[in-house]
Amino acid sequence: MAKAMLQYPTLPFEYEVVRARRKTLAIHIKGGKVTINSPMKASVAWISEFVSDNVSWIQGKIKDQLKKEREVLVLADGRDVPFLGQARQLKVVIASRQKVQVSDEQLVIHTPSRDKLETVWSKWLLEQAREYMVSQTIKTAKAMGLDHKLKDVVFRKTKSKWGHCEDNGVIQFNPIVMMAPRAVIDYLIVHEVSHLRHLDHSSRFWKTVSTLCPNWKQHKDWLNLNGHKLWTR
Ligand SMILES: [Zn+2]
Repeated sequence: MAKAMLQYPTLPFEYEVVRARRKTLAIHIKGGKVTINSPMKASVAWISEFVSDNVSWIQGKIKDQLKKEREVLVLADGRDVPFLGQARQLKVVIASRQKVQVSDEQLVIHTPSRDKLETVWSKWLLEQAREYMVSQTIKTAKAMGLDHKLKDVVFRKTKSKWGHCEDNGVIQFNPIVMMAPRAVIDYLIVHEVSHLRHLDHSSRFWKTVSTLCPNWKQHKDWLNLNGHKLWTR
C-alpha cells in the first residue's frame, strides 16, 4: 500500500489517534501522553503532517506537564509544605487528637493515622481560610463600597477555580489558596469582590481590581505558575 510507504521524520514522542465524528484534528495532552483526535476518515498523511507541524509546541507541553506533575504537593515527613507562601518542613505525628501546629520553619500535623493526613490538613486549611478570608472579604467590600452587594462567603475545594462570584452576591473561595502568599490571597479577594461590580473580565473590571490591588498581574501570574504546587494530585 502506498500509504505505508510514506516516510515521516522520527518524532521525540509517541501519539495515539482517536477517530470520531468530527471535522478537524486536535491535539490533546494529558500526563505527558499525546492523543490526536481525528475525523473518522482522516488520512495518515494528513495526521502525520499535522503532528509534525506542531512538534515543538507538543514537546513544550509535555515538558511543562511532566514538570508540573513532579512539583505537586507531597504530604510526607520531611517534605516542604507551604503556608502563607512560606515553605515549612512537615512533621507527621500519629496521635488520637487531630491538630496542626505552624512555626516559621516547621509544620506539625497530628493525625490519628497516615491515611487521614490529607483530611486533617484540608480541614485545618479550611479553618484558616474561614478565619482570614471572610473578614478580609467584608473589609475589602467595604473599602470598595460594595458591601451592600456581598451576601455570603463560602468555601469549596474545586479543582477548576480559586474563586467565584455569583450574581446573587455569594463569593466562593478555594481554601487551599491559604498556602499561597498573603498578597496573592488578598488579590484573589479583591478579584472576587470586584465581580460584585462587574461580572466579567472586561477592562473596566481590571480597572476596579487595580484600585485596591495595583500589582494584580503579578499575583495572577503567581497562581498560574504555582497553583499546581498547592495540590496533592
Ligand atoms: Zn474572575
